Amino acid sequence: MIEVQDLSVSYGQQIALQNASARFMPGQFSAIIGPNGAGKSTLLKTVLGLVDATQGRVVTSDDLRDLRRSSAYVPQQQTLDWAFPVTVWDVAMMGRTARLGWLRWPGRKDRDVVLASLRQTEVDALRERPIQALSGGQRQRVLLARMLAREAQVLLLDEPLTGVDTATGEKIMRLLQEQARAGRTVIMVTHDLEAARRWCDQLLLVNRTVVAQGRPDDVYTPANIECTFSSSHLGHTHA
Ligand code: ADP
Ligand code: MG
Repeated sequence: MIEVQDLSVSYGQQIALQNASARFMPGQFSAIIGPNGAGKSTLLKTVLGLVDATQGRVVTSDDLRDLRRSSAYVPQQQTLDWAFPVTVWDVAMMGRTARLGWLRWPGRKDRDVVLASLRQTEVDALRERPIQALSGGQRQRVLLARMLAREAQVLLLDEPLTGVDTATGEKIMRLLQEQARAGRTVIMVTHDLEAARRWCDQLLLVNRTVVAQGRPDDVYTPANIECTFSSSHLGHTHA
């Protein structure tokens, strides 16, 4: 279990999150939804320890350092350098080398896992291709392969549906749901409310704080949506 308790995060004078609380369970597929600048990426990064909280904390039933070390993170595609001269295979292998540690070469098992991951996201035919030459949808699937190759128990994804067509989006949601059904904790930031309602077990509406959290049918109400997407209601909390 991952619990975010009364979290506040600032970047200098800019307050990104204030008194945000949330809970994520193994086997649960959660979607974080909210307008641009709402603090969604900040929430993921704080769970990962990439950003420090000014108040509150992240608690887990396991050791927090272990959790962070064993998490797979898929950052927003547009924050990455796609001109970097590596192939699809290299990027997927990074999911393994992150776990290998100092002075260990990838072995047979690593290559098998990488190939299986590339097949699962249907980019194995592109494995020799430089990442520069890929479309947005292909890039997203390569990032998912890298995530799968990590064999992590906690998966955090920042807008994995951006730049993908409807059919690919469905495949990605099905894949993530399967990961949750296999007992993993899956947390995804998305703008796609409809996909989140349809596929996720839990919705979190975020606008500088967690406005609402729970099962999609309970959370997706006109009042909660209004509260999340109109800035005049900042700070109110609804069940
Ligand atoms: P979202 O992912 O919901 O669009 P973010 O978590 O990226 O929102 O950002 C929340 C707020 O924090 C925004 O106002 C954004 O401009 C600000 N912010 C995010 N990252 C930084 C940073 N590295 N330095 C300064 N301000 C930042
Ligand atoms: Mg973001």
